[in-house]
Amino acid sequence: MTKYIFTTGGVISSLGKGIASASIGKILESRGLKVALMKLDPYINVDPGKMNPYQHGEVYVTEDGAETDLDLGHYERFTNTETTKFSNATTGQVYNTVIARERRGDYLGKTIQVIPHITNEIKDRIRKAAHASKAEVMIVEVGGTVGDIESLPFLEAARQFRLEVGYRNALYVHLTLVPYLRCAEEIKTKPTQHSVGKLREIGIQPDILICRTEKALSEDVKDKISLFCNVSKGAVIEARDAESIYQIPLVFREQGLDKIILNHFGLKCRSGDLKDWGERVVERVLRPRHKVTVAVVGIYLGLQDASKSIYESLVHAGMCNDAKVVIKKVDSEDIEKHGAAGLLSDVAGVLVPGGFGYRGIEGKVAAIRYARENKIPFLGLCLGMQCAVVEFARNACGLKGANSTEFNKNTKYPIISLLEEQKDVKNMGGTMRLGAYPCRVKKGSLAYRTYKRSMISERHRHRYEFNNIYRDLLEKKGIIFSGVYPKKGLVEIIEIKKHPYFIAVQFHPEFKSKPDRPHPLFREFIKSALDRERKIKK
Ligand code: GLN
Repeated sequence: MTKYIFTTGGVISSLGKGIASASIGKILESRGLKVALMKLDPYINVDPGKMNPYQHGEVYVTEDGAETDLDLGHYERFTNTETTKFSNATTGQVYNTVIARERRGDYLGKTIQVIPHITNEIKDRIRKAAHASKAEVMIVEVGGTVGDIESLPFLEAARQFRLEVGYRNALYVHLTLVPYLRCAEEIKTKPTQHSVGKLREIGIQPDILICRTEKALSEDVKDKISLFCNVSKGAVIEARDAESIYQIPLVFREQGLDKIILNHFGLKCRSGDLKDWGERVVERVLRPRHKVTVAVVGIYLGLQDASKSIYESLVHAGMCNDAKVVIKKVDSEDIEKHGAAGLLSDVAGVLVPGGFGYRGIEGKVAAIRYARENKIPFLGLCLGMQCAVVEFARNACGLKGANSTEFNKNTKYPIISLLEEQKDVKNMGGTMRLGAYPCRVKKGSLAYRTYKRSMISERHRHRYEFNNIYRDLLEKKGIIFSGVYPKKGLVEIIEIKKHPYFIAVQFHPEFKSKPDRPHPLFREFIKSALDRERKIKK
């Protein structure tokens, strides 16, 4: 029988519920359990695919091609679980399903209500996710903050869940903030009391509290939280601000969070430890011997982390190269205004990430030209590859004005364009090339030396493709098409000759990098950037 853990958050948003949930997954995995994680998102959008990444953060793409919340990226980076389309459910999806059923007449004219129809659909989705993953422990992260109107149906479904599966088979973990008031020099528990109070109003008594705090929690503070929140003292877990998110599983483990959970579920597991994680991940991320600065050239709007997985992949690549990777975020519109040289002369590598729309494109193209001509290690991802091809066509092949038809429909040289079969697609949601596709890697190429394999599989999220009409011409001028999707002959990887590291890919390798298994493309990019840094210093 699957056991269920629900993680909720109180007091404020951005407490790191995703990382806490992923860390719980990690410590349970270390005890030999098969875990799976899912996220319930209270917003009404049907999926994050069409949400603005500069507001909402990155769209994380699963193997099976679902466009999901960025927390799923944390789940995959911390644990061995593979997320799928079942791992994310939004209010929009839930209502969509229920309303479609109503339209079909499936409810036989009954009045459709939040309870039970919406809550039943939410519970169904949780069960489906558990079933599909065959997990022993299913961790369900409830998005939003307790007290939000939007979260109520999800919390109600979580409350009902325990009734169905039995007390011992469901567990509620609440993440809360315990602020330190500098002027009073005091840690305050009242916000936690209130947010637990709010949860209890809806019928959920948390079993475990994870307290985000700047300062250590004294025994007195823990006693107080325990008494007022009705949670046993041992289950009041301190989560002090850490230097690296990858320390969190160790922090939980030290306080016996795994034992508390296993006891509640009555599970007997192997003892297990996180020694490997501690040595191979945490030690390396905290104490690197070298340092290297690379530029990520994108459009930087708002605060949200639109390139979360890319930044994490760079951290991972740093770890295996024993280096701290300093990321210089360069706004491609600044490059358009001031030129590439001034903004990129101090970096040892240039990365151009994915994106949509014309804004900042010319700056990205200029950055790539600068990296190509000055032999600076370059990694292009998705739109980054498309810009690399445009740059090469324009500046190395004399195809003046070459472009992607995404940016100029009437370009004389549509070097990136839609496939014929895509041209009638009108609906913007979920109509891209999404999810995992196989790619054949050319022997002897940089890609082959990097992956050390001739067949790979990577995740996609894009509409436009390299236009094969231009293949011969570009090849003659020095581009190597080193990766192709065999079934359709679509270009997946390009590289250029006589350059220390210049590679660009149509897919998104960042979704598959893990701290203990860095992605080879990022690993070699940072390695090459370090070589350059050393040479410059000499
Ligand atoms: N806008 C480009 C396309 O649709 C690239 C997408 C991306 O970088 N994810 O093909």
